[in-house]
Amino acid sequence: MKGVIKLAILNLKCKGCGKIFDFNVGKITFGNKLSFENEIFCQKCGLVEIEDLELTELGQTQVAELYF
Ligand SMILES: [Zn+2]
Repeated sequence: MKGVIKLAILNLKCKGCGKIFDFNVGKITFGNKLSFENEIFCQKCGLVEIEDLELTELGQTQVAELYF
């Protein structure tokens, strides 16, 4: 199932440095995997690919609330 929802701020963790931060990811597309409209910047690493990010427990809750 695919869907697009509007702007969301999610709690993310950078796998590179382990930093946890809130980021406005823009539109979220739900497909086989999540994709975000905005590019994500880690304060430490700069531009971070989605593969190098993970949702924190809070972030997962935020996504679940948006999706369901
Ligand atoms: Zn980082």
